[in-house]
Amino acid sequence: MADNFTPLPDFTRWPSFPFEGDMRVKPLAAPVDVEPPRSGEDAADCVACNTPDDEYIWISERWRVRGMDRPTGLPMVVILECRSHLDIGDLPNLLAAELGVMTVRLERAIRSLDGVARVHVNRWGDGSAHLHMWFLARPYGRLQLRGTFLTLWDDILPAIPEQQWRENLAMVAAWLAEFGGRAIAEPPHIQWESPSTINYAGNQADSSPGRPDDSVRPAPLDDATPSSSGDLIADSIPAQRSNPAEPKAPKPPFPHTTPA
Ligand SMILES: [Zn+2]
Repeated sequence: MADNFTPLPDFTRWPSFPFEGDMRVKPLAAPVDVEPPRSGEDAADCVACNTPDDEYIWISERWRVRGMDRPTGLPMVVILECRSHLDIGDLPNLLAAELGVMTVRLERAIRSLDGVARVHVNRWGDGSAHLHMWFLARPYGRLQLRGTFLTLWDDILPAIPEQQWRENLAMVAAWLAEFGGRAIAEPPHIQWESPSTINYAGNQADSSPGRPDDSVRPAPLDDATPSSSGDLIADSIPAQRSNPAEPKAPKPPFPHTTPA
């Protein structure tokens, strides 16, 4: 049992651990004999089953993907759900196989976004009964965010600009729709601005209204420090992309089949 003498675990000294200062381990509560029901154990009370398609970013016959209700600190956080009121261990073979395809497809879609280095895929299932897989994008160059604590950092980092958030959701929805289903998320309306001056040759200023706005891109790395040994991800494979500005990853060679 934890007490004031319980030593802090090694992970509190990892570079990726988001907190510092004096800490102590919480006392461990006694186990309960019978666990309380999760949210939505009954389909009639299930939030996922009762949420209409237009609140998702992409839908298909058997699967749906939704974002959060507002921007958070990471460039992309989405949840994959099956339409059927099932948890992961109860999926029939068809849905189990499609879960694999959808997981790979969604990971690839999110990783194709500018400034995304890695996509963490998680299923906890302790809160809600209906299967929901989390996909969290780790910003390129942010080595301190690697590994276990990414979900904590999502709440700590300042929220990304809403325009970027909407663009990212629309990009992922459009990617998924290439293989079937229907994109719901739409890109934000372009803020057309008339140039205040007309630029001629020799004028270095460029106020072209169609120029991409780099200000909405993720901030460049400025605190990237390789993790020391002992970090969970110290042996992680090298970054898959040497340059965050390189072209988007090619589309995956999936056939245009299920899940559609
Ligand atoms: Zn449900």
